Amino acid sequence: MILPIVAYGDPVLRKKASPISFDYPNLGQLINDMYETMYNAKGVGLAAPQIGLSIRLFIVDGAPMNDSESKENDEDLSDFKKIFINPTILSEEGEKWGFAEGCLSIPGIRENINRQSQLTIRYFDENGQEHTETYKGMRARIIQHEYDHIEGVLFTDYLSPLKRQILFSKLQRITKGGIQVEYPMRFPKKK
Ligand code: ZN
Repeated sequence: MILPIVAYGDPVLRKKASPISFDYPNLGQLINDMYETMYNAKGVGLAAPQIGLSIRLFIVDGAPMNDSESKENDEDLSDFKKIFINPTILSEEGEKWGFAEGCLSIPGIRENINRQSQLTIRYFDENGQEHTETYKGMRARIIQHEYDHIEGVLFTDYLSPLKRQILFSKLQRITKGGIQVEYPMRFPKKK
């Protein structure tokens, strides 16, 4: 089932999400629905708060990046499909690098964001198995972006005050639903 994606301005995107237990009701179905929702919106990551659930869960699939805009990205992300449950970023290291990020909750806006190039993350998969893994480059960036969502952080938070001021009316328009989007969304201030 395709779920509506919560738009910028909804308080759920600002909450620090809570850990879940493995008897969370219909977890498997929820994960399936999140994948369907993400693919329909042509995203490479989706965090639970973006469908209105303040829980520590996000999914990624880098494959769509391989065929699209990724001329600027020569990493092969076709095998980067994962589910992160109750993740903790243990460390981030490496030089910061910039990339024009977008977000399914903030359609139509892409901005250059600097992030560190490597991270180590501990998480549980859908079978309750614990993993500790290190990721670099675009994989690390996708994880950092999604992890931010479960911490209540959005990529626009990293922009300079001037840049944010320039984007202010655009962001207001998103909150009010005054935009055209090709996937179902829920706008907090739509009249
Ligand atoms: Zn996002």
